[in-house]
Parts: sequence; C-alpha cells; structure tokens
Amino acid sequence: MTKFALVCGAGGFIGSHLVRRLKNEGFWVRGVDLKFPEFAETEADDFVVGDLRDQRVVDAVVDRRYDEVYQLAADMGGAGYIFTGEHDADIMHNSATINLGVIDRAHKRNIRRIFYSSSACMYPAYNQEDPDNPNCKESSAYPAAPDSEYGWEKLFSERLFLAFNRNHGMSNRVARYHNIFGPQGTWTGGKEKAPAAVCRKVAMAANNGEIEIWGDGNQTRSFLYIDECIEGTIRLTRSDFEGPVNVGSDEMVTINQLVDMVADIAGKTLHKNHVPGPLGVRGRNSHNQLIEDKLGWRPTQSLRKGLETTYAWIETQVRRNAASNA
Ligand code: NAD
Repeated sequence: MTKFALVCGAGGFIGSHLVRRLKNEGFWVRGVDLKFPEFAETEADDFVVGDLRDQRVVDAVVDRRYDEVYQLAADMGGAGYIFTGEHDADIMHNSATINLGVIDRAHKRNIRRIFYSSSACMYPAYNQEDPDNPNCKESSAYPAAPDSEYGWEKLFSERLFLAFNRNHGMSNRVARYHNIFGPQGTWTGGKEKAPAAVCRKVAMAANNGEIEIWGDGNQTRSFLYIDECIEGTIRLTRSDFEGPVNVGSDEMVTINQLVDMVADIAGKTLHKNHVPGPLGVRGRNSHNQLIEDKLGWRPTQSLRKGLETTYAWIETQVRRNAASNA
C-alpha cells in the first residue's frame, strides 16, 4: 500500500533533500512552502506554494491522515540573518505561527506524529563560551539561555510539540539539528551558513588572494552533511524515542580550520582577513551519546568528504553566476 508523507518547508534545503529520499522509498509526497526549491525541480507528487502562517493554507494541506509528517518550515538563515537582531520579530512571529497552526490542525485531523526540526541554537549560551569544551548535551538545555530569538522560538516550539504528546496522546518527534550543509543549500544572499559562505568565498578568490572571515576564526563548530541529517531524521521519526535529540556531527573544528580545509580542497593558498561580523556562540559541538543509545546510530562521515561534494557544487554555481553576469 502506498504511504503518504507531508513535508512542510519542502522548498528549502533540508526539505527538498527529504522529499527526494521519501520518493526513493516509494512514498507519495506532498510538499508545501512559500517557494519551489531553488536549485532543482521538486520531486514531490504534489507541491503547494502557500504560506503556512495562513491557517487556511494549513487546513488545505493537512486534509488527511498522513503516514509521516515533517515540519521543517521556519524563518531562518545563517549568522548574518539570525544574530544581527534586525529580524528578531519576524523570526519569532513567523516560525511560532507556523508551528502553532500545523500542530493544532494535525491534532484535529487525528494525525499522531509530526517530526519537528529544532536547533542547537536553543542551547544556553553560558555552556558555549569555551571554544574547546562546549556542552551541548541534551540534558544541558536548562536553565534556558539561548543567545538568539531564533533559539528561543525553537525552544518554545519543541516544548509545544512535546506538550501535545503529553496532553493529546500524540507521539511527535523532536531533533536538534547542528549546522547542516551540502549541495543545493543557500550559498549566497545573506541567509547562507558558514560552510556555504566559506566555499563561495574560496571559489571566488584568486589563488594567493585573501578572503574575509567574521571574527578571529577561533570559534568552533561542527557541521553535518545533509545525507546524514536525512538519515537521522527518518530514523528518529520511525523510532520509539520522542527526543529531543541532537542530530549533528561531533567532529569539531575552528572556522579557521574549516577555511583551511576548503582552501585545500580547492587547491588554493589564501590569506585570511579577519573582520568584525555577527558570530553567535564561541564554541558548539554535537554531543552524540543519546542518539547512539536511543537509535543505535550516529553520524560518522568525515567533514572533509562532505565539503568535497559541497565545494564542487558551489564552485559550479559561482562559475555559472559569473558567466550569466558577464
Ligand atoms: P531553509 O530556509 O532552506 O528551509 C526552510 C523553508 O521554510 C524555506 O524554504 C522557507 O521558504 C520555508 N518557509 C518559511 N516560512 C514559511 C511560511 N510562512 N510558509 C511556508 N513555508 C515557509 O532551511 P533548512 O536549512 O532547510 O532548515 C529546515 C529546518 O531545520 C528549519 O526549521 C530550521 O530552523 C531547522 N534547522 C536547520 C539547520 C541547518 O543547519 N540548516 C540547523 C538547525 C535547525
């Protein structure tokens, strides 16, 4: 029998990869988003362009019982979008409205389970001040003190989905994603994340030239390749564990090391010019004991391998862009 899935945020980076994976598994998939995917034709059987802040759109797409529902739609971006403070009201209002509408409607349609993508940005800033030793264990979430309104909204919404589990007999699943990257992600325009921004800057730089890095580059992060993110998402959704659980890599690097790795992949020698910019916390790394204990699985692919694929894709975009602007 055909299985049915709904992917909210199917025009986005993770959502479009998830649609492809579900299609490969034989699902009939409906996607909904403000926009179609930017870099490839959607593979969804039905794609609704609509605004999930509008309850009529939510009611129209949540019109049946689905076997799997993934709620990825959010107003988000990289550090340049989240940490400047200029978009705080939009981020909180837009994403919370989407989540409130989707969970309510799903509950009323007797849908039992929704996967919700929270973020490592909900972890308290005070545990992420030491770049060599950040603490992002799931149990370290409280007392809450995220360093951005984006993180506060994620914390609110993960609690919302879990409250529906307790009060309305749902079995929603919550993952805390840590810096997902890969081909077909935003790579320019202000909403791109560090790996994509670094790949773009390296691709655009001449050999022996220089690239700008926000801050001193000693801030640490880990980055998870998109295929492993999708694998973790699907495993959690189909498991008996509700979360919240980290879905991230525990291969922590400094931003300077990330730049060096990408430059090496590109075969370029580059000088790093450190400039002021929005930074976020000083250190962050995924803690992967809980996912291993509960799902018997954890991400294992090296950062280098994921960056090789991602750099190749971004370099092609940069070249195409240059050619079309010439
Ligand atoms: P993305 O921005 O590419 O995808 C989000 C999608 O939501 C976009 O296509 C956007 O158009 C859509 N959207 C926003 N507002 C909408 C609305 N009102 N109605 C309908 N659609 C709307 O981001 P992504 O990287 O694919 O992230 C997916 C989810 O994972 C988000 O919830 C994000 O907060 C979470 N997350 C991502 C990362 C990461 O590193 N990419 C890390 C932590 C959490």
